[in-house]
Amino acid sequence: MPFPIILSSPSGGGKTTIALRLLATRTDVGYSVSCTTRPPRRGEVDGKDYHFISLEKFKRGQATKKFAESAEVHGHLYGTLRAEVKHVLSSGRHVIMDIDVQGAKQFARAFPDSVLIFILPPSAKVLVERLEARGTEDPKSLIRRFKSAIAELKAIDLYPYVIVNDEIDSAVTAVSSIIDAEGLKRARNGALDARVKELMKGIQRAIDHYSARK
Ligand code: 5GP
Repeated sequence: MPFPIILSSPSGGGKTTIALRLLATRTDVGYSVSCTTRPPRRGEVDGKDYHFISLEKFKRGQATKKFAESAEVHGHLYGTLRAEVKHVLSSGRHVIMDIDVQGAKQFARAFPDSVLIFILPPSAKVLVERLEARGTEDPKSLIRRFKSAIAELKAIDLYPYVIVNDEIDSAVTAVSSIIDAEGLKRARNGALDARVKELMKGIQRAIDHYSARK
């Protein structure tokens, strides 16, 4: 059974890169494109990176319960469309989402079988450098992002899995291993019960066979 995977981290933690790498390497994983009221950055494509929508349209989506979760992040609204998640899951793929901690909390309530993974940057220095290197932020918004990084880190207890992203290949492998292990959980494999019953029946037949020959 496919399930939702939530990746969260402070800005600059590397979750977007990890999500993209997984999408490129695993055919059993799809992406849920979020809605946002933030304007597109250079190179971002509407419908691929985000659905870039107006505040009015976002509010309408909230009122009509179109979002499985929504939150204000860095002064803009972001939300995950229920339809987008269901579309990926019904195609038989796990759905990966790159959402903030407030959204993760709401989403896990709506979809309790979600797998929550927190990505930690290797150090404060690396996180600060990664954010500075983006070059898209003025000091005021950088400070806002640094403050929200602290707020994100404070919410780490919500996440059963934590990966330190000091090397991208290992971080991607770690997330991939979590997906594989989660997929093997008994609770996610309803067909296992019937299989175990069949095994027991087969063994019982052997017992009956040898008992008759005693
Ligand atoms: P950015 O604007 O840099 O793409 O993303 C800013 C933050 O918004 C990131 O922490 C990202 O995880 C979060 N974000 C992106 N999409 C969603 C969403 O659909 N819901 C929530 N709650 N957060 C999101």
